[in-house]
Amino acid sequence: MEHSQSVKAIRASILDIARVVDNPEDIEKNVRYIDDGLMLIANGRIEWVGNWQDGKDMVPDSVRIRSYPGKILMPGFIDTHIHYPQAEMVGAYGEQLLEWLNNYTFPTEARYKDKDYAREMSAFFLKQLLRNGTTTALVFGTVHPESVDALFEAAENINMRIIAGKVMMDRNAPDYLLDTPETSYNQTKELIEKWHKRGRLLYAITPRFAPTSSPEQLAMAGKLKQEYPDTYLHTHLCENKNEIEWVKELFPEQDGYLDVYHQHGLTGSKSVFAHCIHLEDKEWDCLHDTDSAIAFCPTSNLYLGSGLFKLQEAWQRKVKVGMGTDIGAGTTFNMLQTLNEAYKVMQLQQHRLSAFEAFYLATLGGAKSLSLDHLIGNFDIGKEADFVVIDPCSTPLQQLRFDSSKDLAEELFVLMTLGDDRSIYRTYVDGRLVYERG
Ligand SMILES: [Zn+2]
Repeated sequence: MEHSQSVKAIRASILDIARVVDNPEDIEKNVRYIDDGLMLIANGRIEWVGNWQDGKDMVPDSVRIRSYPGKILMPGFIDTHIHYPQAEMVGAYGEQLLEWLNNYTFPTEARYKDKDYAREMSAFFLKQLLRNGTTTALVFGTVHPESVDALFEAAENINMRIIAGKVMMDRNAPDYLLDTPETSYNQTKELIEKWHKRGRLLYAITPRFAPTSSPEQLAMAGKLKQEYPDTYLHTHLCENKNEIEWVKELFPEQDGYLDVYHQHGLTGSKSVFAHCIHLEDKEWDCLHDTDSAIAFCPTSNLYLGSGLFKLQEAWQRKVKVGMGTDIGAGTTFNMLQTLNEAYKVMQLQQHRLSAFEAFYLATLGGAKSLSLDHLIGNFDIGKEADFVVIDPCSTPLQQLRFDSSKDLAEELFVLMTLGDDRSIYRTYVDGRLVYERG
């Protein structure tokens, strides 16, 4: 890893999407693609992007130009929902959500009480993100504050933009994983004071989901959100039908699942709800009216048999959506593979997910859903230099299909269908090279 923060110059094909859009038809006309491009970076920010021919004379003699012929430079991927302590339980066999939590998740998360263990796994987790081209993530820790300290310390070392939080959970889980309304409030407050907006780090208030928080704890989460309005709220919503019935039994006085969060002040422009597969009309309206966002997690939704996310309806109702891997119910850290599965989820609903729409959701759309589109998500001048250098021909099969592709749309579609971690050639965070494919 290098540590110089001087000017950098990178020559490659450059791809991004110019602006946030309200409907998917507007994405293609906002695609910016430069076949032989140059990007200049200074102090971790994008300074200039354009044609090589137009920019090459601006590169100072002292700057070595990094050339990546045949590669595509694009914004780093944004993962809007992932659990770092669950990396070690990907591929847990045989269960749907509620049984999966009890049988696999809770015993695994117990290990993160040990700070050394949390440190070791944080390092592993961030390396996995980087080797998959993901440069920003919204991350669940465990109930232990140590788990979040360990992750933030590791992310701070490479100045990576990570949003994370300690799980709040005071019922319906094993005793060894429970906090209380008071301890969860105090620990979260302490973590916010310590980490929120420190460098590029941001804090998310993180009740696991409504069934594992008492009304008293959700009230505490709402109080924290009021005290720190620019923190995030990160939780799960309407993933599984049994889960929804359970929430209705636990909160009979509330008007459905989302209303539990809404009545506690937990919806808003920095609230991200994972899954949202079985939403009622009024819940779609509430997400729209409060400018809340959804994390679409196709590999997880298929893996746990939860259902098919209605991406088309989210567009129609103008609700923000980002992509999530949801490790460890999700089965890959890799955003290309996640997009591949998203395509299939949409096929099962008779909709086409174009490559441009898919890459939008994984970059600028994800940034918008995290209210970070003024800082990351594309290559506008002044934005943070988080990006990935993609090798679209990393296997013989990819090469074969790439050679027969007729245009950029097809090249990108083949990339998201056949690509995986081998397609990630380089990853840069804050203008610095942090991962090179071996
Ligand atoms: Zn999740």
